[in-house]
Amino acid sequence: MRSTIAFLLALSLTLVPAFAAQDPFALPVGTVVIDAGHGGHDPGASYSWPFAGGMVYERDLTLDIAKRLEVLLTLSHPEIEVVMTRSSDVYLSLAERSAIASALHWGGKGALFVSIHINSALATSASGFEVLTKKQEKQVVFLDEATPAANIPLFASHSQIQLNRLLNHRNLVVASIFEETLDSQLVTARSRGVKEQDLWVLNQCRMPAVMVELGFLSNEGDAKNLTSSQYRQRLAQVLANAIERCL
Ligand SMILES: [Zn+2]
Repeated sequence: MRSTIAFLLALSLTLVPAFAAQDPFALPVGTVVIDAGHGGHDPGASYSWPFAGGMVYERDLTLDIAKRLEVLLTLSHPEIEVVMTRSSDVYLSLAERSAIASALHWGGKGALFVSIHINSALATSASGFEVLTKKQEKQVVFLDEATPAANIPLFASHSQIQLNRLLNHRNLVVASIFEETLDSQLVTARSRGVKEQDLWVLNQCRMPAVMVELGFLSNEGDAKNLTSSQYRQRLAQVLANAIERCL
C-alpha cells in the first residue's frame, strides 16, 4: 500500500510539468520586499570599535543599506513595487515582517523577499558574506485565513506539496543569483556560500526569500567596511544588481 502511494505521488510529481498551472514563484519579479533586520529595542549584533567611535549596531547598518537599496531600485526600476518592512528605527516581530509580505497581492509577476542582516561571531577571524535560504524540509502554508482573496487563485491551482516544491526550487535559484552577484562584484569580500538555515522569517515567507548576511561586525576588516557609508552604498548597489537579475 505504502509503495503504491509512493508510486502515485512520484507519478503525480513527474506529471506536474505537463499539466502545471502557472508557477506563482516564477521570475520575473514585479514586487520586492526589503526587510531591514532588527530595529528599535532589538539591536541585533553589536560591537565596539574605536575607529567607529564606539558601539556599532546591526539594526542601524541594515536600515541604512535597506534605504539605499530602496532608492536605487525605485530610481532605476519605477515599474516594480518596492515594499519596506521598516523605514525607521522601530521594532518589528518576525511575524509582522512575514505578514507584511504575505498580505501583498503580487499576481501577474513574481515577488521576492530580501532580508538584510549583519553577522557576528565569537571568533573575530570569521569574515565574509553569506546567502541564507530556508531549509527545504520546512513546509510553508500558503492558504489560510491570512491569505488575501486576490492571492487565492495564485495558490489554489496547486497542492501544498507542489507549492512547496516550486518555492524550494525558486529559493535555490534566487539564492545562487545573489551569491554569484555578490561574489563577482564585492571583490574585497569573501563568499561563505549559500546555506540552508532554519530561520523563522524565511520559513514563513509565501514568496521566494533570501537572507543576506553582509559581513561580520566582529571582524575588524569587515567592520571597517560596514561602518563606511561608501561601502554600504556599494553593498546596496550590488544587492540592486542581484535583484535586477530577477526582474
Ligand atoms: Zn541579524
